[in-house]
Amino acid sequence: MFIDTHLHLNSEKYGNYKEVIQRAKLFGVNKLITIGTSVKEIPEIKKIILEDGVYGTLGVYPTLDEKYTTEDLKKILSENIDKKIVGIGECGFNQPLQENDRDLKSQEEVFRMQIELAIEKNLPLVVHNRNSDRETLEVLNSYRNKNLRGEIHCFVSNYEFAKKILDLGFYLSFNGIVTYKSGIILHETIQKMPLDRMLFETDAPHLSPEGMRKENNEPRNIPFIAESIAKIRGIELEELSKKVYSNSLALFDKISV
Ligand SMILES: [Zn+2]
Repeated sequence: MFIDTHLHLNSEKYGNYKEVIQRAKLFGVNKLITIGTSVKEIPEIKKIILEDGVYGTLGVYPTLDEKYTTEDLKKILSENIDKKIVGIGECGFNQPLQENDRDLKSQEEVFRMQIELAIEKNLPLVVHNRNSDRETLEVLNSYRNKNLRGEIHCFVSNYEFAKKILDLGFYLSFNGIVTYKSGIILHETIQKMPLDRMLFETDAPHLSPEGMRKENNEPRNIPFIAESIAKIRGIELEELSKKVYSNSLALFDKISV
């Protein structure tokens, strides 16, 4: 059994999310966490998580929802947390900055708001970090020993950074990038990190694994990603899958089994 801890079932790229969920289940991916990135997605996410085995998070992506004040965003997220909302995010830093993006200072403010909400609600934090290792670490470090828990999703940094994140008690989540040529940067971390901090995700419909990059990614590809990681780690697929499944439930502890 598998959990896809990070995907976007409300994506316009999917005609019918119910079929995507069904196909995932045929491949043993029986639990899915559909991730929030903006206020306008909240009603869509709340509808999708009515499906069996599907859970959600609420969050503000670093470059979105710039028309709201941070205070209003906190209120909106907070009011919409219900029993199948199992985390806060995705949130963090996104660089390089494009025109009309939030600047770094504003990204940090919205990130810190979501960290504080995660602590208040005792929910895990889903961190987005694109080209921002230094900024991400600095912010997360300032909440050391404040009961913050969470994960770096789509982990693509080197082992030096991984060690610092692991030292904060955070989990690292890996996706189809491990199957790319550029995924070689992840091998050292996958080989050396403690297995009880590893998570799997697809980030579907994005980041289809190698060999299917022209298609939409789907949660049914989790076993394929898991197999690649098992090979890199030099461990049996079954042993790894069991471990990662229980890690996912340990972090996202509102998910019922
Ligand atoms: Zn995502």
